[in-house]
Amino acid sequence: MASTPLDVLRAVFGFESFRPLQGDVVEHVVGGGDALVLMPTGGGKSLCYQVPALCRPGTAVVVSPLIALMEDQVAALRQYGVRAAALHSGLPWGEAGAVERQMRSGDLDLVYVAPERLLTDAFLGHLKHCDLALFAIDEAHCVSQWGHDFRPEYRRLTALHERFPRVPRIALTATADGPTRRDIVEHLELGDGRVFVAGFDRPNIRYRVLHKGGRGADLAGFIEAEHVGQAGIVYCATRAKATDMADRLAARGVAALPYHAGMAATERARNQDRFIRDDGVVMVATIAFGMGIDKPDVRFVAHLDLPASLEAYYQETGRAGRDGLAADAWMTYGIADVAKRHAHIEASEAPDLQKRVERQKLEALLGYCETTRCRRQVLLEYFGETLAQPCGNCDTCLEPPQSFDGTEVAQKALSCVYRTGQMFGAAHLIDVLLGGDTERVRRFRHDRLSTYGIGTELSREEWRSVFRQLVAMGLLVVDMAGHGGLRLGPDCRDVLRGERPVSLRRDPVAPKAARKAKAGARATLDDPEDEALFQVLRARRLELARAQGVPPYVIFHDSTLVAMAKERPRHRHELARLPGVGQAKLERYGDDFLAVLAAAGDP
Ligand code: ADP
Ligand code: ZN
Repeated sequence: MASTPLDVLRAVFGFESFRPLQGDVVEHVVGGGDALVLMPTGGGKSLCYQVPALCRPGTAVVVSPLIALMEDQVAALRQYGVRAAALHSGLPWGEAGAVERQMRSGDLDLVYVAPERLLTDAFLGHLKHCDLALFAIDEAHCVSQWGHDFRPEYRRLTALHERFPRVPRIALTATADGPTRRDIVEHLELGDGRVFVAGFDRPNIRYRVLHKGGRGADLAGFIEAEHVGQAGIVYCATRAKATDMADRLAARGVAALPYHAGMAATERARNQDRFIRDDGVVMVATIAFGMGIDKPDVRFVAHLDLPASLEAYYQETGRAGRDGLAADAWMTYGIADVAKRHAHIEASEAPDLQKRVERQKLEALLGYCETTRCRRQVLLEYFGETLAQPCGNCDTCLEPPQSFDGTEVAQKALSCVYRTGQMFGAAHLIDVLLGGDTERVRRFRHDRLSTYGIGTELSREEWRSVFRQLVAMGLLVVDMAGHGGLRLGPDCRDVLRGERPVSLRRDPVAPKAARKAKAGARATLDDPEDEALFQVLRARRLELARAQGVPPYVIFHDSTLVAMAKERPRHRHELARLPGVGQAKLERYGDDFLAVLAAAGDP
């Protein structure tokens, strides 16, 4: 029984080595220590407790806040041949008793339990009769009131420590800001445990921000060009928009489904189920969707509206590419979004301090959107990390935006705002600057202003970009009434007086150098033959998954299929060397996939 962690990693999970921090955590917990693990989504938290669970004698008890999450993990573990079960309120009658009996007789390696259930006297009493390997507390940020997922039951988890002082505890989360971290240590009484913090970078995610109405800002076009047949999540601000966009994508042949709080619970559950079980579903959702979705092969996350904050953006985009393969974070935004957000903040009843915090968060978000620097550097800096070099995998790195001395155009724009009375939106202001002859221009006699027609050096599109940037810099403020009227910001005087230069980015106007990717190909393989084989392997995986009623990725991850398509193993021992092929999976599926590979190899 006494296998080393590395044996377990290789034989059961089919992975060659631990990731840097994983190995340390595993060693610490196997040795009986308590730990707090902070790792980004996709960083590999599960193995941090699953491997120790298999190395230590007894059953590991995993606290998890969501039934869907538990079911998912249990299904995946069983595919690896691990003896796992879940205990929650959705269980058929009689099954819970069976699981508890198996725990007592030592026939389970891991049991996932909802906190409410774990903390009942009956269950704690039952645990006294079990041999316990460890307690793992997943999504540990649920203990914190600061977070968005506060679960009061999590506070009572200290009972575990009090009743079972000798059983090691490991708490895990992807939310690592300071207050949340302190809350976890305090409320779980983890003061003597070790804290493990992984870097938060997600190098396989390519960040891209586009302007609404600008070139390339068409979601359907993006999917058709880069993600045909692949799973993705599209976030919209409103239910109506989610439904509408799902319909529009469906009309273009994308397998898109809506998800929002206004739908019947059964319909939501059905759509979520299809997203998880089918291979290439695009979920068009409000932010109600995503928490607890562990699907590893989400190839893109798109934001059609501004996310709530950079924190929210990072968390939502983090749902892309958990498997480590290339993935996209794609966002469009426009000045109207900014106006809405401003209006929302100003109209809220929140205390001034909170409003100030919200304004700062919005500012940081806009700064990210309009940056000319590497986006990953900006993001990581916001979370207190530094990335020494530009990443080479974001839009600003791949296509560096030109900047130009925008002092003069900024002055023109600002004085146009001033002379028209600080009440008009960008569209009308641009009409005035370009000398347009519109009904509004005539009605307000704006053709008589000194700023009328002084801006013909830029196109309408370029002016839109200038106004957006001035708003992002705080030189213009969107009016609280919410119809997008612009006012001068507090710092604009220096610019108008010519005492402060303004550098602006020139949004690319010429057609972009086309990406070399073929339709939908970027996430997978360059060689068309490998790609074709990958698709055949995927189809076989889907059949096997359907037959068992499990999500395809619990059979093999895309990364394993990619390795098969590239390496084309002919024999079991060759297959066994690929990442993600452990003993149990080799037994179960080896021959199936070898048959597909053999058929592909024969001319
Ligand atoms: P998290 O829970 O931190 O979001 P997961 O535990 O789901 O992340 O792991 C993310 C992905 O990384 C999974 O596909 C998992 O199989 C893979 N993975 C984790 N550890 C390793 C490893 N040591 N070698 C290879 N792949 C790994
Ligand atoms: Zn970059």
